[in-house]
Amino acid sequence: MEYDPPINTDSDEDIAMPEDMPDEYYQGIRKEGKIRRIVVDKQACIGAMSCSVVAPLVFQMDEEDIAYIPEGHEASDEETILLGAQSCPVLAIHLFDKDGKKIFPEE
Ligand code: SF4
Repeated sequence: MEYDPPINTDSDEDIAMPEDMPDEYYQGIRKEGKIRRIVVDKQACIGAMSCSVVAPLVFQMDEEDIAYIPEGHEASDEETILLGAQSCPVLAIHLFDKDGKKIFPEE
């Protein structure tokens, strides 16, 4: 049976869906700020855990050692989110603005 972590259930109806979403992902939606969608590419994540060390409110590990975005992630600031994303050795974390434009990693 698939593990069902307590990911947030915020609606993303008021922000654009990015064109380049991964096939399998966890996501967190923020209601304010520049970063509006936080995405973990589940197939790219190797469970290195550096994101959850740098930004523990934003990234936690599921039973398969894949990072997910838990409820309460909104309490974290954007700088911490960005640092968490930058800490990922395989760039499995993608950050998008409300228009679906990628903020990180830069292309
Ligand atoms: S740092 Fe990257 S590879 Fe490591 S757990 Fe986080 S998302 Fe996965």
